[in-house]
Amino acid sequence: MRPAEHQPGQGRGSAAPSAPPPSVDPTGWGALARRGGRRALRTASALRARARLAAVPLGRYAPRSALRVPEQRVERAACPAVDAHNHLGLWLNDGARWMAPDVRALLASMDATGVEAVVNLDGRWGAELEANLDRYDRAHPGRFATFCHVDLAAALAEPARAGARLVAQLEAGAAAGAAGLKVWKDLGLSLRDGSGARVLPDDERLAPLWERAGQLGLPVLVHVADPVAFFDPVDRHNERLEELLAHPDWALHGTGAPSHARLLRALDALVGAHSGTRFIAAHLASSAEDLAAASALLDAHPNLAVDLSGRLAELGRQPRAAARLLRRHAGRVLWGSDSFGFDVEEVRTWFRLLETDDEHFPYSPAPVPPQGRWAVSGLDLRAADEQALRAAYAGAARAWVPALGR
Ligand SMILES: [Zn+2]
Repeated sequence: MRPAEHQPGQGRGSAAPSAPPPSVDPTGWGALARRGGRRALRTASALRARARLAAVPLGRYAPRSALRVPEQRVERAACPAVDAHNHLGLWLNDGARWMAPDVRALLASMDATGVEAVVNLDGRWGAELEANLDRYDRAHPGRFATFCHVDLAAALAEPARAGARLVAQLEAGAAAGAAGLKVWKDLGLSLRDGSGARVLPDDERLAPLWERAGQLGLPVLVHVADPVAFFDPVDRHNERLEELLAHPDWALHGTGAPSHARLLRALDALVGAHSGTRFIAAHLASSAEDLAAASALLDAHPNLAVDLSGRLAELGRQPRAAARLLRRHAGRVLWGSDSFGFDVEEVRTWFRLLETDDEHFPYSPAPVPPQGRWAVSGLDLRAADEQALRAAYAGAARAWVPALGR
């Protein structure tokens, strides 16, 4: 006999002389008691389920949005575009495989998305630069602009000769046909001189390199620092915790690396010290988390532009501030997909972000968004400011990378 079945009904029934048999129960109390029993059981199983869910690791949590909102698919850019930051070379694949293994397929993808030209930042130097130029710029004039690198590590091993050596290497790159100079983030984060001291971007010993780039009319695309969260402790407060757990080598906290603020000061000093050289600071000058800071940097230096690459997720979680930045600095903000070989879906997500007013859409096809668990909203530039959109898509790139032509 289950106690819940009888407590209320039994009390009343036993007090009445003409109590009906328990199976009839005209009072309804018995039914209520039975429902109460089921409810208790349901409560217990709900508590067990809740306990199980409480133990689900965050990494397995995959909520599906219940929002029903309009979705626009943008197949082609609103105007002919230039992807001003991409990687088509060999060195990021251990020098063994091309990032875009099939150039015909790459051109077809560019045509399908309305991308006229791609800036390839993987030129390196010497034979590798020649191979990049042969494969892209020379084989398909107008469609590619390859930037060269200089061997900073080798030059800095002998600091006294570094300037002259770097200038000679840059001149060789320019003579070969490089469209600009790419400088990677290892300058500031990990590069050391012959004495073992870390070298920051504003190091005086590199000044001849930047001056010569300006004289040669070569833009310098410089990647300084990294997302702010990479400099923070990898703990439960870090907004990119899952990404840093997946890539522990990206975490900079406690490694002795300079702070984010220190690196940004070095970028500010570098650009300020070489006003005759045009710099393009990659990834919104690593200031996508603070667009006011990015805007102030652009205000301070007319010889500075920024590219948007790698920061789709950051822009889309502050679409109004992002649109304001693109409008305020139109002509000095370059779109680049940084999609490592030209990923058509990623490129189209960029178009959706820049052009539409779509709200709350995934910035990545990954089941768990890789840079943080949020969705993005469009900047709506197609309606709000078509001029700023055109500048970001192509005008700025053509102005800052003269080799692209106009
Ligand atoms: Zn890149």
